[in-house]
Amino acid sequence: MSYLALARKWRPRAFSEVVGQEHVVSALIHALDENRLHHAFLFAGTRGVGKTTLARIFAKALNCEQGVSSSPCGACPTCQAVDEGRFIDLIEVDAASRTKVDDTRDLLSNVQYTPTQGRYKVYLIDEVHMLSTHSFNALLKTLEEPPPHVKFLLATTDPQKLPVTVLSRCLQFNLRALQQAAITDQQIKILEAEEITFQPSAIDILSRAAAGSLRDALSLLDQAISHGGGQVEEERVRAMLGMIEDKVVFSLLNALADRDAEKLMLVVKEMAQKTVSFTSALDDLLLGLHDISLYQNNPQLVEELDRNHPISSELAGKFGSEDVQLFYQIALIGKRDLPLAPDQQSGFEMVLLRMLVFSPDPLPEALSHTPSAGAGAKPKGAPREVKRTEKKAPVKEKKTQKNKEIIAESEVVMEQGSSTSVPHDTDSWERFVVDASLSGVVRELAMNIAPVFDPSKDQLRLMLDKAHQNLFSKGRAKEINRALTEWLGRKITVDFQIDDVVAQSPAKEKRDKITARQEEAERIIDQDPNIAELKRRFDATVIPGTVRPSEN
Ligand SMILES: [Zn+2]
Repeated sequence: MSYLALARKWRPRAFSEVVGQEHVVSALIHALDENRLHHAFLFAGTRGVGKTTLARIFAKALNCEQGVSSSPCGACPTCQAVDEGRFIDLIEVDAASRTKVDDTRDLLSNVQYTPTQGRYKVYLIDEVHMLSTHSFNALLKTLEEPPPHVKFLLATTDPQKLPVTVLSRCLQFNLRALQQAAITDQQIKILEAEEITFQPSAIDILSRAAAGSLRDALSLLDQAISHGGGQVEEERVRAMLGMIEDKVVFSLLNALADRDAEKLMLVVKEMAQKTVSFTSALDDLLLGLHDISLYQNNPQLVEELDRNHPISSELAGKFGSEDVQLFYQIALIGKRDLPLAPDQQSGFEMVLLRMLVFSPDPLPEALSHTPSAGAGAKPKGAPREVKRTEKKAPVKEKKTQKNKEIIAESEVVMEQGSSTSVPHDTDSWERFVVDASLSGVVRELAMNIAPVFDPSKDQLRLMLDKAHQNLFSKGRAKEINRALTEWLGRKITVDFQIDDVVAQSPAKEKRDKITARQEEAERIIDQDPNIAELKRRFDATVIPGTVRPSEN
């Protein structure tokens, strides 16, 4: 199966196709059309927002055989070579892997020679801030007196690390992280063109998980399509990203409103059994609290959000408006500190318990009824009486006792943590992925990895199936490596290997399970005597692809 990753297939080939960087694009178009070209440009911005893409289009614009213009023909041999990534005069360098001064000298010693194929040589130096001081000095010399046939495109995620001397010689553009709406639009455009069915709510989740990077969004979309067997559904996407279902968010919110610590811990326990990401669970909780606050101020505003499962008036009525603000703040800080917790589950539990402990006062029973419908229902802090009835007292005591148990529990987990062994199979690897709270594309990459541990060399080989290589990047590999060191409490040798071999990974195990369940469901339907009777009597047929395994 030759499948071209969406990010590659849909890489913009003209300035007009670039999404979300209008200010940069229009400046470049202007410069090209008026032939007033600076010799060095600096693109600053996070990963996956289009730096390399812009560089390629720029190289085409300068070298198109039809002449220099902002709209290169896209058909001549030069344009095609650039599009296919084999244009010899576009020299792409990743400074992160070439930081030594000799490397840069090597690179820059060729600057003086005229281009081989085109009019201009275009140097794209990615992560330019990673160059050493000596390398910067070598670069600076060239930037001071560049030959007329050379253009420099420097890209960085961290412009503050660049020497002023370099900055002052470049025309700087700041690339923006993309708005979620822009990412959603692009994903939908692609899905429609590819004729892939999808649920809009699933796309919302994917575009949120991409955190401003269109490239990440398309990698996730690729994964979602393969997880969903050719379609993109909310439930599958949530499972893929390790997100909790809406009903779990509602259970948590209800238990919070009821100040029910026992129920809260029970829900968390169920979540842990499903290998969810507690970071994304906090995100869901934050969104839920946001919606409640919005509802309390104006229910109409929540309707406009067009949520799959909107906040009910009953739930919104159970919270004091000040509590919602406090809980939101606690969840926000909890999310920031989650990576520091001994493990994700206990960190998440502490966030919930903190909400109960710091809540201003127990909610008087009188307020816990449903507010009358309509915009007028504004639960305010004012009419709340602080009724510390005897009935409440035992609950308080129970809560404290429960807290002790939880503290004891997290101590046990810490002890286990100190003797963490290197993940050597799918189960232990998945435990690491969840514990380390990897998220977004990094998590998706990790879930598709099969670990092979060699204890004699203390070496961990991470195998990635070729079919998922579009998830791989050096940065993500580094992030996994760092998380692994932190999780183990020591450093081990890790190497990544992209392979044809179909190795067993957590994600693959899940996909296989889904396929097996699907086949089982189809077999059951096929053998069901009632269905057979329907077929016989009414000439009924089972429409292919409509059989779905049940929840249980
Ligand atoms: Zn051309």
